[in-house]
Amino acid sequence: MTATPSKAIQGKLDKLGLRTAHDLLLHLPLRYQDETRIYPIGHAPLGEAALVEGEITDATVQYRPRRTLVCRVEDGSGMMTLRFLHFYPNQIKQLAPGKRVRLFGEMRHGFFGMEMVHPQYRIVAAEEAVAEALTPVYPTTAGLSQAALRKLVLGALAGCDLSDTLPDEVLRPLGLPGFAASITYLHQPPPDAPLGLLTERTHPAWQRLKFDELLAQQLSMSLHYRRRRAQSAAAMKPQHQLTRALLASLPFPLTLAQQRVLQEIGADLAQPHPMQRLLQGDVGSGKTVVAALAALQAIENGFQAAIMAPTEILAEQHFQKLSAWLKPLGLGVVWLAASLPKKEKQAALAAVAAGTAQLAVGTHALFQEQVVFHRLGLAIVDEQHRFGVHQRLLLRQKGSSSGRSVRAQEPHQLMMSATPIPRTLSMSYYADLDVSVIDELPPGRTPVVTKLVADSRRDEVIARVREACLKGRQAYWVCPLIEESEKLQLQTALDTYQTLAATFPELRVGLVHGRLHAREKATAMEAFKAGEIQLLVATTVIEVGVDVPNASLMVIEHAERFGLSQLHQLRGRVGRGAAQSACILLYQTPLSETARARLKIIYENSDGFEIARQDLLLRGPGEFLGARQSGVPLLKIADIEQDQDLLEAARHTAEKLIAERPEVAQRHLQRWLAGAEQYLKV
Ligand code: ADP
Ligand code: MG
Repeated sequence: MTATPSKAIQGKLDKLGLRTAHDLLLHLPLRYQDETRIYPIGHAPLGEAALVEGEITDATVQYRPRRTLVCRVEDGSGMMTLRFLHFYPNQIKQLAPGKRVRLFGEMRHGFFGMEMVHPQYRIVAAEEAVAEALTPVYPTTAGLSQAALRKLVLGALAGCDLSDTLPDEVLRPLGLPGFAASITYLHQPPPDAPLGLLTERTHPAWQRLKFDELLAQQLSMSLHYRRRRAQSAAAMKPQHQLTRALLASLPFPLTLAQQRVLQEIGADLAQPHPMQRLLQGDVGSGKTVVAALAALQAIENGFQAAIMAPTEILAEQHFQKLSAWLKPLGLGVVWLAASLPKKEKQAALAAVAAGTAQLAVGTHALFQEQVVFHRLGLAIVDEQHRFGVHQRLLLRQKGSSSGRSVRAQEPHQLMMSATPIPRTLSMSYYADLDVSVIDELPPGRTPVVTKLVADSRRDEVIARVREACLKGRQAYWVCPLIEESEKLQLQTALDTYQTLAATFPELRVGLVHGRLHAREKATAMEAFKAGEIQLLVATTVIEVGVDVPNASLMVIEHAERFGLSQLHQLRGRVGRGAAQSACILLYQTPLSETARARLKIIYENSDGFEIARQDLLLRGPGEFLGARQSGVPLLKIADIEQDQDLLEAARHTAEKLIAERPEVAQRHLQRWLAGAEQYLKV
């Protein structure tokens, strides 16, 4: 760059995330203005932005209907009016009669003929040259003018190394133009450039930059993957003693999909490198038993396993289920949560440290400092999308720092998620993980019937809940979500509980919400599981993992306030037994356009993948990624849905480059990810 920007400007640039000349170079226009030709005023196109120029013949401040600066401009071909509703005193001086003014704005047919309201304008000398390129309009922030930003970008264009990071043999088959030509074209398109292709970002120059960005992401993820793959871990060959014993004790055979993913996980565990596998499976597909069998493979090799869940309710439930499965095999299972009484916690910690507990189940309390594993070999993270990258790293580190003989070894890692990751996302943001998918539900499940019911028909819903419960079924009643205020959320839950308890004097009604102590939560959940509670009023604390097969009816109040994956997860709490289950989505009228679209998606689809895909389209990847994005370079130029073909191409190219031209890969990464690579190295 020619000049270093002032401190004030640097502050604005920081806000835009533009720290280096390279960042500026890759700060691409939102759209373009055609200031390469001046239209005669009399023939300027109506209703689109255009450049005109003329002499100011009159300028007055009018006061009716409101204070307005009105100028008349003529150029021989015609006459037009300029209106400024907001203006500074010096503008009146600037726009004095006799001056030549060049205007860029949208010409309209006003009451007094042709007019422009608040055009961009500049006082010019006669015969001043017009722009030679289309004028880029950049994303900016308050206080940083387009003109200043343009100047900085031009400086970057002149000062940066624009040499190509990619050789011809990569670009030619893909039909992509060179980097220097592309970046120059996008910042300074020639006057005859196809504006449509530029605005839609489908022009080859755009394609090239999108490809570059995607390639950098793929390279980074792939290298990250390889780096972790190159670390060492204990090879845990299947021994089949414990796993066979558990399989024999289960009341059901595994589905084919469960067997397949177990094979994949088992083969990974047998490798002397840390597994980093994501197990995806829709709600109710039976991931827990797969986790248990994976844990047993570690245990029968003399290692410990840990399962971490995002909520205490879920962790406690896992603990109960896994204890019931593993204790009969003579194994020690402990439970670790923040709320555990001191004495019990100490006992649990001691068992984990001594290795007498082969399996530890818990919340994020599992990776607190005091927790020292004797020999952690496998870390399992349930509902992984609820955890940040950071938290997962902490649990992994538990393995590398523990145990005397296994130092410098990483534990294997299995992440599980019921929020399915659409293909485009798993190809891009999750490309550093291996993925196993359970694509089949256990047999005998009847699909959940979903009903959309306006809140005005609440009475019918109440009758239905009563009927189901009196028939021996159980039901959930999910309280409205109030994201803005936890306090209000709690109050709503209490109110809902009281109202429903009064409405159903003949039923035993319970309540769980996030503010209850873990013990109270656990007690309520146990009572519900045992059938002592028939109607459970709950907040979204029951969203993940809760498994009570006899519950066959769910009512969700204000369903329009929930996210789609949240609704899908909630709905997955029913339909777990053989009985026909239903999920009633109560909504408040009138519904907004988007709320209607979202409820329609959940109503029409029961497949979590399809719901996630549509959710991604509605919300964009930023929100979808949630916690994960902190560790992954986000895409600024490419759009994984729109640019799927480029994403595929980038993926193949990345693999090829890493294998055959590592120096090219390195160079490309340097240009694109200078700083962003850091985090991935952890
Ligand atoms: P999720 O994948 O949502 O975590 P769970 O592991 O909680 O699902 O399993 C849901 C229910 O299905 C549990 O009650 C579990 O015991 C049961 N289950 C798991 N696998 C099978 C199977 N192969 N056949 C029948 N029931 C199964
Ligand atoms: Mg689960």
